[in-house]
Amino acid sequence: MLGTMMNFPLTLAPILERAGKLFSKVEVVSRLPGLGLGRCKYGDIYRRARQLAHALQLAGLKPGDRVATLMWNHAQHVEAYFGIPVAGGILHTLNLRLHANELAYIVTHARDRYLIVDDVLLPVYESIRSQVDFERVLVVPHGHVSVPNNCENYEDFLAGAIGDFIYPDLDENQAATMCFTSGTTGKPKGVLYSHRALVLHSLNECAADSFCLSQNDVALPGSSMFHANAWGIPFTATMVGAKMVLPGPHLDPESLLDLIEGESVTFAAGVPTLWLGVLAALENHPGRWNISWTVRIGAGGSAVPESLLRGLDRFGFHITHLWGMTETAPLASTGFVKSTLAQCGEDHQYKIRGKQGIPSPFVELRVMGPSGEAPWDGVSYGELEVRGPWVAASYFESPETCDRWTDDGWFKTGDIATIDSEGYLKIVDRSKDLIKSGGEWISSVDIENALMAHPAVREAAVIGVPHPKWQERPLAIMVRKEGMEVQADELRALLAAQFAKWQMPDAFLFTNELPHTSVGKLLKLELRQQYANWKWDQ
Ligand code: AMP
Repeated sequence: MLGTMMNFPLTLAPILERAGKLFSKVEVVSRLPGLGLGRCKYGDIYRRARQLAHALQLAGLKPGDRVATLMWNHAQHVEAYFGIPVAGGILHTLNLRLHANELAYIVTHARDRYLIVDDVLLPVYESIRSQVDFERVLVVPHGHVSVPNNCENYEDFLAGAIGDFIYPDLDENQAATMCFTSGTTGKPKGVLYSHRALVLHSLNECAADSFCLSQNDVALPGSSMFHANAWGIPFTATMVGAKMVLPGPHLDPESLLDLIEGESVTFAAGVPTLWLGVLAALENHPGRWNISWTVRIGAGGSAVPESLLRGLDRFGFHITHLWGMTETAPLASTGFVKSTLAQCGEDHQYKIRGKQGIPSPFVELRVMGPSGEAPWDGVSYGELEVRGPWVAASYFESPETCDRWTDDGWFKTGDIATIDSEGYLKIVDRSKDLIKSGGEWISSVDIENALMAHPAVREAAVIGVPHPKWQERPLAIMVRKEGMEVQADELRALLAAQFAKWQMPDAFLFTNELPHTSVGKLLKLELRQQYANWKWDQ
């Protein structure tokens, strides 16, 4: 027998309606590219997001069409976050830090039809223009560059939408947003987030044991809006009517602290690198910022060191460690201390908070060892697998990658992890030796392959080595072919043609031999140990 409840679709439209009708006077503050602050209200976002939706419909947007954005974190991007999906389109956020070739591949593969681009990011568009084919390019004017010929002014585009916007019928399972992951080797893969997944993920972020977001909060998403929907915070903050503070391109510690102080931020999220910088700024400039309230921080994307948890606690910034992936929308676990462990002493509590947390409601985790599921003993490790209502079940038009899912429907994360008897997850390592620098992925294997394409390089290993600012930076260690010569500058030039600057190794070393496992694979663990104390300025 069925329940007698309504079958009400979970889509982004009611979130936008709610903010527009109930929280129209709540502010959305944006740090502009020129450092000034732009202010608007949810009432404006409501009006303009629907205007964008209407303008897209008038421009011929059909259900499922992809509309790409090349934008920083600011109010117009929030308009796109809602305006595109409620029109039936798919918001495709482009990572503006990628190399032009990779970006062009992603745009072409996704068959993006329109582009909305910040005027300050036009150079990024220019770098891919000859390789892509957008039907219309809309430039958001921030007063920096005039709109080039063959592009349109975003404001004019909006102004052209006269008349009322009428929501199309939206199915909760249809895609609302799209984001490519470059977290694995090979071609980037697209994840399509359904309306339903985003709504459930937002409800989860309001939970007290999660981000606990409410209309009492002032929320600052310090994670990029082009990466995993800025961890869903723009959707969640809008849903609950929390004042939102968007940092634009300015993620340096001083700018962040100025915003936190000036706008009374109560919750902020971002990768540990951001918070390492904030901690250093607070320590180096005592008394410069007067932040007398507790600031809750959601930090993840790479492991949060215990020293950071302890250091920021001293300044009233309380980190909740979280784990997730592009494929998990992304929030899948949060590292709060359970009430039944509250008596365990301070040191033990820091150890718990240093783990990646327990799974969110409806998210299930398991660790697969060599002989099946590993016990929850905090010691047995294996590959972490995940499933849940906001976990990807496939990639966009990429059937050859179905080996990322098990036959019984779990997603194989590629992370090596343990789970302890209380259910706390600990990420031990990344199975593919990826390097994460400043919150962005660098594929060691891709760089190795490129280096080994040089005729004088016999073998190359690229490893992530701890870095005081970026957490990790790539170091390349190579063996030359016998009797051949090659210098670092030549290799740097070779890589520059294929990789973005931040993906390039910061140092190139030569050795006589690299360590190998018994089956002849590079033994990177040993290399990492050998170079763990590498001084970057040598
Ligand atoms: P991405 O898809 O770019 O968001 O990267 C996801 C990957 O980041 C995960 O598979 C992990 O390897 C890593 N990651 C995310 N959160 C954490 C964390 N708290 N600690 C360690 N690694 C993490």
